[in-house]
Amino acid sequence: MSKQIVAIDGPAGSGKSSVSKQLAREFNFGYLDTGAAYRALAWLVLQGLDTRELENGAFESNFDYQISTDADNFWVRVGNQDVTEAIRSTEVSEAVSAVAQIPTVRSFMKRKTHEIAETCTKPGIVIEGRDITTVVYPEAQSRILLTASEEVRLARRSKEVSDAENVHAQVVKRDAHDSKVVNFTEAAPGVALIDSSDLDFSQTVQVMSEQVKHDLKAAHDV
Ligand code: C5P
Repeated sequence: MSKQIVAIDGPAGSGKSSVSKQLAREFNFGYLDTGAAYRALAWLVLQGLDTRELENGAFESNFDYQISTDADNFWVRVGNQDVTEAIRSTEVSEAVSAVAQIPTVRSFMKRKTHEIAETCTKPGIVIEGRDITTVVYPEAQSRILLTASEEVRLARRSKEVSDAENVHAQVVKRDAHDSKVVNFTEAAPGVALIDSSDLDFSQTVQVMSEQVKHDLKAAHDV
């Protein structure tokens, strides 16, 4: 049987990373954070990679990207450098949307995501991002758009950081920029919409888990 793909999209602060990791544990699947690759590439630009290389595709040979697909042992590397922490910096968060809007970058990321998912040795993989349900894996057995109201998303982010005001402005700006490139605010046909505004973490996981079980069973029964 081919690998089971669970595709989860959503905006910043929707809780998709923590929920996706938890689902991966429950189903004994791999976990893939696709935003990390865009962040790692933005990090490389901040290190001096010529942005013309992004436009013309030359960056591909200089971008030695590796990521863990283990939800309990998560790391990201570029070459022999561990960038797991570095890619979460404010500088990277501010630079990433501009990198992510370049078509050559997006098509590279699509190929890279397929390559990583195929080499994962688990029977399935939970892949989270912005365009996984629509562009990267429209054929996934389970496709979910996880949303939450802006108010709730910002409140969740504030709990994670000290400089809440700046982070609010940054998240709103990043979402506005990102949503010009990919639509992650409305569910495409066949994509389940789950709104976590009124749910806590464990309730969200429970609802998502039911949806995934339902979808995998339906895909199996076809
Ligand atoms: O998920 P995360 O917030 O870490 O993603 C960082 C950035 O990567 C997003 O703001 C967006 O610009 C880009 N991204 C994307 N498509 C994806 C995942 C992330 O454009 N599938």
